[in-house]
Amino acid sequence: MGAGVAGLVAARDLVRGGAEVVVLEARERVGGRVLNDELPGGGPIEVGGQWVGPGQHRVLALIEELGLSTYPTYDDGRHIAEFGASRSLYTGRIPKVNPVVLADIAQTQLRLDRAARQVAAADPWRAKGAGELDAQTFATWLRRTARTARGRRFFRVVTEGVFSAEPEDMSALWAAFYVGAAGGLDALINVTGGAQQDRVTGGSQRIALALAEELGDRIVLGSAVTEIEWQGSGVRVGTGGGTAVRARRAVIAVPPPLAARIRFSPTLPGDRDQLVQRMPMGRVIKVNVVYDEPFWRRAGLSGQANSDRRPLGTVFDNTPPDGSPGVLVGFLEGRHADTGARMEPADRRRHVINDLVGYFGPRARDPLAYIERDWAEEEYSRGCYGAFTAPGALSRFGPALRAPIGPLHWAGTETATRWAGYMDGAAESGHRAAEEVLRRLLS
Ligand SMILES: Cc1cc2nc3c(=O)[nH]c(=O)nc-3n(C[C@H](O)[C@H](O)[C@H](O)COP(=O)(O)OP(=O)(O)OC[C@H]3O[C@@H](n4cnc5c(N)ncnc54)[C@H](O)[C@@H]3O)c2cc1C
Repeated sequence: MGAGVAGLVAARDLVRGGAEVVVLEARERVGGRVLNDELPGGGPIEVGGQWVGPGQHRVLALIEELGLSTYPTYDDGRHIAEFGASRSLYTGRIPKVNPVVLADIAQTQLRLDRAARQVAAADPWRAKGAGELDAQTFATWLRRTARTARGRRFFRVVTEGVFSAEPEDMSALWAAFYVGAAGGLDALINVTGGAQQDRVTGGSQRIALALAEELGDRIVLGSAVTEIEWQGSGVRVGTGGGTAVRARRAVIAVPPPLAARIRFSPTLPGDRDQLVQRMPMGRVIKVNVVYDEPFWRRAGLSGQANSDRRPLGTVFDNTPPDGSPGVLVGFLEGRHADTGARMEPADRRRHVINDLVGYFGPRARDPLAYIERDWAEEEYSRGCYGAFTAPGALSRFGPALRAPIGPLHWAGTETATRWAGYMDGAAESGHRAAEEVLRRLLS
């Protein structure tokens, strides 16, 4: 169940392995957290997941296999950084900040990367020191590690940008696991050489649409799974609409908080249930603001901006490859999504545009279009970019994240060992779940 990247990859592998497959999808579309919208005048724009980057071997292989292509994110010119009272324009990776703060940021990143390396991505709960890391929030870890207030503020912006959550929300073990699963913090935050390096031509939802085309009428849209009866010999998967599918095995490819809404009969073992009770989703409102042209480029700006004093803390150039229209994509993440969501839409739009004017000047005042998506308002996502674990959860219940239970198999990006939280992790989890099922069907 679930026609996101994970469920679709699993279904395709299963079909290729000779299994008969039905994919039950709650929404009236495929893609889940990956979704294309339309720019004024046509042309796709992503309102969900979009970037891919080096090291994301599974999603890159998928893109190639499906006959799709990528193009580089615009990364020329100077980036804007606002930390504390200062504003700087810089090129390369590191904003211009005072040397003491710079050394603090470098030292904290070094320690985070070291912790991440010690936490093997396949089973972080086994790592030496896992219990100690899991007994604290990432905020506590940062408070103990970063020496300067500005250094800590920098890592708050990074946490919001990477997890769409606050450092107080999540376990330090989850943060270390996630960084390790991507191969280090630089890989997560960089454009060139990192997770934001490339975009999928035609929009990232084409990955899901192309997979769905191969699966054809095996996918049943508008079928929210509400209950699963399971026993040794098989499953009966029921939807609110009354449809029921009987099968030998089920792959549950939905985010953990959505799996927690399904009624399992018999009840799942306590470890699994306790785990998913401790895995909330992040919160993000993604905004694409469209202009007649990418005017910031002529001013020598890359369109990339970060701030610890504006709600729109992260901005990138999201212009299509032919350079028109100009698009800035920004994110209200974590606590900023909380505040943004409580505003009237017109007020929220005004705040977002004001932040863009603050970054890029008065030309940002009059966009052609404003396209936003609040993922916490989506019944079948309940937040984004992904789920994370609260303190204590991963060290106590971690193995329950992926371990099959009788005929039930778990997929979804949160169950990945590499690039968890990303489309790449979703693809990894789909391949792994299909392999588990095929192995058991053949044995
Ligand atoms: C704003 C935003 C920006 C992001 N940026 C990036 C990025 O740049 N790069 C990147 O790699 N990743 C990014 N991500 C994350 C990426 O989109 C996800 O990691 C990935 O799409 C998850 O795929 P999945 O298949 O694991 O889960 P999902 O996409 O959530 O798929 C789950 C599917 O299950 C369905 N479902 C849920 N409940 C039920 C039910 N009861 N019955 C039946 N079906 C159900 C859902 O409708 C959905 O289709 C971003 C996400 C968002 C929202």
